[in-house]
Amino acid sequence: MEKLARQQVQALTPYLSARRIGGSGDVWLNANESPFNNEYQLTLNNLNRYSECQPKALIEAYSAYAGVKPEQTLTSRGADEGIELLIRAFCEAGQDSILYCPPTYGMYSISAETIGVERKIVPLTSDWQLDLPNIEANLESVKLVFVCSPNNPTGNLVKREDILTLLEMTKDKAIVVMDEAYIDFCPEASTVDLLAQYPNLAILRTLSKAFALAGLRCGFTLANEELINVLLKVIAPYPVPVPVTEIAVQTLSEQGLVRAKQQVAELNQNRAYLAQGLAALEGVTVYPGWGNYILVQFIDGDQVFKSAWDNGIILRNSPIENCVRISVGNQQECEKTLAFIQSALEATAA
Ligand SMILES: *Cc1c(COP(=O)(O)O)cnc(C)c1O
Repeated sequence: MEKLARQQVQALTPYLSARRIGGSGDVWLNANESPFNNEYQLTLNNLNRYSECQPKALIEAYSAYAGVKPEQTLTSRGADEGIELLIRAFCEAGQDSILYCPPTYGMYSISAETIGVERKIVPLTSDWQLDLPNIEANLESVKLVFVCSPNNPTGNLVKREDILTLLEMTKDKAIVVMDEAYIDFCPEASTVDLLAQYPNLAILRTLSKAFALAGLRCGFTLANEELINVLLKVIAPYPVPVPVTEIAVQTLSEQGLVRAKQQVAELNQNRAYLAQGLAALEGVTVYPGWGNYILVQFIDGDQVFKSAWDNGIILRNSPIENCVRISVGNQQECEKTLAFIQSALEATAA
């Protein structure tokens, strides 16, 4: 049957998510999930009816949280579906392109490939910032430029002045998609205020990270009304299951937001603990990170990744040489991970 599939699909290597890679153990710090497992109430009394395409209560709650108008908010099955909707709505297959800047999140490339849209790759500079001259030289046929900040997997923020330059450079030509999946850990770095000025800006958000709802599959695209209306043309008729809305609305309630803020503060503290502890070890470089993860460079990153794996501590290896991405867990998970790496490095040195 495989040869019946579209050629592009036959050639495709699917995204190797942390979940697909697997592993076994009791410390899971490989998927940037939250360690908090919060409780929710479900009423489940209207499941015979279709959901609203864009549930009003959910759109209103997230718009209020994000500081935008409801007409500037679209909800979808995770931020990942937002990526796909943008490409499907704005890029002509076999004609238009997307541009992205690795090392970065893998789904921009995979969604484009699946849809048959060309990819232009302009790597980040050595300090993981935008290479603006090279982006400018490669904008021909580009409809979407993806920028991830805090960037996954490097953890750094992209400079605001560079984002502004990019928005000016692409005005009337292309849309700048800011992937803010981790922005709730550093809300002051959001570009949401720029929506007022830039009709070519779209922002991706999710409940998967700071709101501890990776399993719920709920994300958002923020943009001006005209852009949102284009996405509404291509979205499925019932993209958000009824129970998803019920839970998402609870997490975005006044109480839910207080809890999320506390959990973010705790995770930011744990990140500092983990970063300081690791940085004190010989031969270890910790890159400053603003999300719920840090990128750490070892003398032999593969060895650290594998020995942790064998000991039930599941981390994420990265395409950057000798680097391992470590999600920030609860205090106990961070202590356990730090202690393990410390003793593993001591054993190698001995
Ligand atoms: C996790 C992640 C996403 C996907 O979020 P979902 O809402 O779970 O689909 C998007 N972008 C980046 C950078 C991520 O790390």
